[in-house]
Amino acid sequence: MQTKRIAIFGSTGSIGTQALEVIAENSNLFSVAILTAQNNVDLLIKQALQFNPQIVVIGDEKKYQTLKEALANTTITIAAGEAAIIEAAASDIYDMMLAAIVGYAGLKPTLKAIENGKAIALANKETLVVAGDIVMKKALEKRVPIIPVDSEHSAIFQCLVGEGRNKIEKIILTASGGPFLGRKPNFLVNVKRDHALQHPNWSMGAKISIDSSTLMNKGLEMIEAKWLFNLQPQQVQVVVHPQSIIHSMIQFEDGSIKAQMGLPDMKLPIQYAMAFPQRLANNFKRYDFKKPNALTFEEPDLKTFRNLSLAIDALHKGGNLPCIMNAANEIAVFAFLRNRIGFLDMTELIERTMNKIPFIEKPTLKDYFDSDGEARNFAASIIQM
Ligand code: NDP
Repeated sequence: MQTKRIAIFGSTGSIGTQALEVIAENSNLFSVAILTAQNNVDLLIKQALQFNPQIVVIGDEKKYQTLKEALANTTITIAAGEAAIIEAAASDIYDMMLAAIVGYAGLKPTLKAIENGKAIALANKETLVVAGDIVMKKALEKRVPIIPVDSEHSAIFQCLVGEGRNKIEKIILTASGGPFLGRKPNFLVNVKRDHALQHPNWSMGAKISIDSSTLMNKGLEMIEAKWLFNLQPQQVQVVVHPQSIIHSMIQFEDGSIKAQMGLPDMKLPIQYAMAFPQRLANNFKRYDFKKPNALTFEEPDLKTFRNLSLAIDALHKGGNLPCIMNAANEIAVFAFLRNRIGFLDMTELIERTMNKIPFIEKPTLKDYFDSDGEARNFAASIIQM
């Protein structure tokens, strides 16, 4: 039997490395066609030697020589730079892209893969936050399946199997609440990066960990869900569920609610997306109903975690506002991770940028690129002031 050839864009990250673990466990089903990373050349070399892909690309061109020398005795094609990452997505040597680059940088390679007719396992939520309308339209046109990897969206996707044309009344995305659940602004004002990086239930990359601590991650997910499942903004809701056992739920128009559950482990949605529609046996830890463990639910605190209310605003207004918000958020998180701004400053930076950059109701792809650039410049200029 032929293996499914997976191209991992962002192979050195949290999602990328876990995907490689899944592939190693299922080498009869999957093989690695492409690996890409931005800076971490040492890990990329190690991965290339272990998985023997056809193409390896490093984003940082200064690392090209190191990569080339380390892989000199192999038949692997090596390239470097942003354009080379996009070009790799246009190649014909793979069946499915695992879109696991972090942030806006994931948009162009993913769009290229869709234009190229390749199935997408989508971890990079920012792609849909920035340009969801264009990405989904292109996927429909090219008949490309977009299978979510984000655990909440994977849960919704799994609940939809077998539902045919049955109508969704609403979806309920669960949020762990992050490391600062129950905290108020007088606490948050003093929070530092190392504390914010400590997520209670999931081990993830730095950017999404900060987004989880501010609840921006849930806002990004609401926008992602709107596009993935073709919903109206008011059909997308959030409930805080600190145990992260229910990964999300759908309420159908007869009032019935379907949920997908399990221990928090990203390998499960990664594996599900890669193997869909098949479920693969594995030895991941199982949830034990016999252990006393209450599952609880509460409303998100939108007054304290204002990033989520900004994202809800962007979800409802649409146009280029989610794109602007995303760009400002990336600048804010980057600055916070470098101790340049405080925890609550992130919200102010995003809000000011959303108010400043001109709103466009029906943006073109170029409008999205331009809005992203303008928002980044404006947000960065505030930090430098
Ligand atoms: P990481 O930061 O751990 O990894 C990001 C990957 O992208 C790395 O391979 C990195 O390379 C590469 N990369 C970074 N910047 C660029 C760039 N400018 N151009 C090209 N490649 C780049 O992120 P995660 O794995 O945590 O997250 C990846 C995506 O998946 C995000 O969009 C996130 O929201 C989403 N996601 C993640 C989850 C998780 O559990 N981690 C859960 C659900 C969704 P290098 O290592 O060389 O810097």
